Amino acid sequence: MPIIQLAEQEIEIIQKRIKNLHLSVYPPKGQVKVSAPTHMNQDTIRAFLISKLPWIRKQQEKILAQERESHRDYINRESHFFRGERVLLNISKTSGAHSTELKHKTLEVAVRHPDDPESVKRAIEQFYRDHLNDEIQKIIAKYEPAMNVKVNEFGIKKMKTKWGTCNYQAKRIWVNLELAKKPPECLEYLVVHEMVHIIEPSHNARFKALMDKYYPSWRVVRDELNRLPVRQEGWEY
Ligand SMILES: [Zn+2]
Repeated sequence: MPIIQLAEQEIEIIQKRIKNLHLSVYPPKGQVKVSAPTHMNQDTIRAFLISKLPWIRKQQEKILAQERESHRDYINRESHFFRGERVLLNISKTSGAHSTELKHKTLEVAVRHPDDPESVKRAIEQFYRDHLNDEIQKIIAKYEPAMNVKVNEFGIKKMKTKWGTCNYQAKRIWVNLELAKKPPECLEYLVVHEMVHIIEPSHNARFKALMDKYYPSWRVVRDELNRLPVRQEGWEY
């Protein structure tokens, strides 16, 4: 891939059959990529990038601040997020299977090796995953009849730049594990958004009308989600 060097920035250029320039800044380090129409010349791309340098730097600062903020050591009394609320870790040792339980505002994590951050992290992620699994099932069951849509399959995974995706042909939905940390309405909105994609794959007027119909407060929740770390211009939620 060709690289343009601009001030301290190394920007990767991807030329493909699109109509407009599209600029993205990615975590964790603020890498910059620009997609440009196949026949656009390098000078035009360079001029565009120069005009966008302040924006690029601003996004990079946000990403780096977010990376610092999201760093966790997985130690006792550390604060984490669950369903939009702050919870404190209380880590203990167990000789049996690991377990994680929410009691009041404390996440009780029992693992074999309490001093090993990786094993504490795995236990918490399992807890997040189990929680999302239950909640997503409920949301799908709630909306399927109303929308007359069938979700064949859903999954949960870690994603860097998206809250969710939908393969509308396979009717399969993927949800970002990070959503376990966000308020419950964010999860509901995201699942409905992906379910609407089964009816309408693009974000066109029909898509918006369907969102208005099935989840009328979607704009408010989307904005809430967008206030949370965002890394891409043209972020689609
Ligand atoms: Zn979408």
